[in-house]
Amino acid sequence: MAIGSCFCGNIRIEYNSQPISSGLCHCRDCRKLTGSTYSYSLIVKTPDLNVSGNPKEVAKNSDSGNDVRNYFCPDCGTPLFGHKVNSDGTPTEITVVRAGIFNDQMLNEWKPHAEIYTDRRLSWICPLEGAGQFRGMIPLS
Ligand SMILES: [Zn+2]
Ligand SMILES: [Zn+2]
Repeated sequence: MAIGSCFCGNIRIEYNSQPISSGLCHCRDCRKLTGSTYSYSLIVKTPDLNVSGNPKEVAKNSDSGNDVRNYFCPDCGTPLFGHKVNSDGTPTEITVVRAGIFNDQMLNEWKPHAEIYTDRRLSWICPLEGAGQFRGMIPLS
């Protein structure tokens, strides 16, 4: 089982499975979300995540027009995970978890499958060898 936590340790996240996929994202939303020049996220099934603590929810419409909710530690601000929301307000089956909350051992095993929004990748960042390259969103089926 993978165990993750935020910077201050008030939020703990357990994950009981292997990611469906994983990827580096170069989109602008991810830069703002993480404060970094790109994000590394794991694509997981929502029911496989076990969250202790009360993350702060931030709602926003994404570039693609979806209703997206992202979650942060209310005390230290660490970005934790996000998902799209169905029209009835329930989260979709798929959650995107910020990889950096997990420990070194898991992160060494979970090499990114893909890079997405590569058309926005900064000029000084090299493509990751062995990762699929997608100009937009990853095809998920
Ligand atoms: Zn925290
Ligand atoms: Zn992104």
